[in-house]
Amino acid sequence: MDSSSSALPGQGTSPATLAELARHLVARASLVLKRPPAAGRANSAAPDAAKAGVGRVALVGAGPGDPELLTLRAARLIAEAEVLVFDHLVTADVLTLAAPTVERVYVGKKAGSHTLPQEDINQLLIRLAQSGRSVVRLKGGDPFVFGRGGEELEDLVAAGIPFEVVPGITAACGVAAYAGIPLTHRDHAQSVVFATGHVKPGGPDADWLALARPRQTTVIYMGVGALGDLCAGLIAHGRGADTPAALVENGTTRAQRVVTGTLATLPNKARWAAVKPPALLIVGEVVALSDRLAWFSPRRLSVRS
Ligand code: SAH
Repeated sequence: MDSSSSALPGQGTSPATLAELARHLVARASLVLKRPPAAGRANSAAPDAAKAGVGRVALVGAGPGDPELLTLRAARLIAEAEVLVFDHLVTADVLTLAAPTVERVYVGKKAGSHTLPQEDINQLLIRLAQSGRSVVRLKGGDPFVFGRGGEELEDLVAAGIPFEVVPGITAACGVAAYAGIPLTHRDHAQSVVFATGHVKPGGPDADWLALARPRQTTVIYMGVGALGDLCAGLIAHGRGADTPAALVENGTTRAQRVVTGTLATLPNKARWAAVKPPALLIVGEVVALSDRLAWFSPRRLSVRS
């Protein structure tokens, strides 16, 4: 804890120190809160499940990348897990908190290439829990924000598997904080909206009017592939072409890159900088504040309009 305590987040903490720190904090928190052991606290969806030797699933938000952004509860559950089922947004640093003996199942999904179809993931969770083990389903950010957490839980409920949900810091909050972009600000944005840039083929189109409202910050997840269309759509529906916009790649990690510009200039700048997922698009006047408020800058790109 000594030398790392002054290090920048996500930069100086060694895995061993991090695991030790997490154990220490979890132990302190348990003392303060007088928590019973985790095993007694899963939901009561299946009261007889424990008796029947059925395990349980914790749906846990892993936050946006920096392992120090995990909740204490997430850190404890990861450390206690017998099986970890995780996807590609969960960083290696977060996984170092798991016991060496834990079974790790990677079910990662990258844009366009699904390692396991969602239905198979749901069935896998059920099978693992039915084998009597304590399963942690780890998801990047928050499991209920563009994380399909609800779909997984519906199947667990149907199968009578006990579960609990641990919220995580969603990318919008984590990434904006590390990029120095306050999502709301009394002078600039009275509301904030989170939307997906992935529109299902054949599904409904984006609600452009809602996304392009003035005095609002619009945060778009999974927007890299459609960046040009998204920026053009916002302009077409009333946002000024000079509205500040940023694309933040791998936010909160050592690989964080921030590309700033305007709705008109950002698509070209992002192409020039070869920004790849995971990246978050943030649109609104608040983005301009990052000039003064950015504090975490492992390799900030100065690509400005
Ligand atoms: N449940 C997650 C979101 C999953 S959707 C959450 O609450 O954050 C995946 C999208 O999240 C990515 O395409 C990207 O837009 C965004 N994202 C997740 N982690 C990110 C990160 N570290 N930096 C930038 N964007 C991120």
